[in-house]
Amino acid sequence: MKIDIMTLFPEMCETVLDTSIIGRARKAGKVELSCVNIRDFANNKHNKVDDAPFGGGMGMVMAAEPIYNCFNSLFDGETKPYLIYMSPKGTTFNQNKAVELSKKEHVVFLCGHYEGIDQRVIDEIVDEEISIGDYVLTGGEMPALVCADAICRILPGVLSDEVCFTEESHFAGLLEYPQYTRPAIWNDREVPSVLLSGNHAEIAKWRKEKAIEITYNRRPDILENAVLDKKEKKFLENYIKSKSE
Ligand code: SAM
Repeated sequence: MKIDIMTLFPEMCETVLDTSIIGRARKAGKVELSCVNIRDFANNKHNKVDDAPFGGGMGMVMAAEPIYNCFNSLFDGETKPYLIYMSPKGTTFNQNKAVELSKKEHVVFLCGHYEGIDQRVIDEIVDEEISIGDYVLTGGEMPALVCADAICRILPGVLSDEVCFTEESHFAGLLEYPQYTRPAIWNDREVPSVLLSGNHAEIAKWRKEKAIEITYNRRPDILENAVLDKKEKKFLENYIKSKSE
């Protein structure tokens, strides 16, 4: 898969993308990740990429032409990549969207700055607007990195095993069970004994039940979409009953 980030601050993105699991995936060629500087496409004497808003008001607006030229440089002769404008006005990002985007061949994230971007270039080339939450950040770089990270870690071969993400929070409509590591007793707190039993079936059952409990207590809204077998549904029923007693 190929991911490009269109930004005025490529160095900010590069540092993150070169670190840890995503950095290793990038080096190993599991994902092609590039940052492209919109300013390189300004085509004017002072490399100016923004201007005052028509109609007056505070701040500056990123101009259409450098963004348009920058985007067109990314797919000479190829199929148009899927272009996402990171925007607080977009639909909120989630794990399902990460899975959906991970199946695309070439995704481009467009990072706005200042007051945002001239609407005409959004209307002309953007396929979708995505927000990472109901708050306003100074730029689209962190939102683009959030999305790129969530996508990259579920690409084939990036994590050591699919189980690393299929059992995680939000993948199958549940939040994850609690995790523990050595030592078995820390500050008089013991690790649940089933995790030390070596009984894999019992461990799997305990983990699923804990995931159901945590999801019920913290995010009952997502529990509806969870995939539960008959026994797990019964467990949930009994758990709800025990809580209301
Ligand atoms: N004036 C815009 C508004 O009120 O909707 C906000 C502009 S914001 C200061 C600058 C840029 O940061 C946006 O163009 C967008 O790319 C990015 N941004 C800010 N908050 C975001 C969010 N919650 N999700 C995604 N992108 C965001």
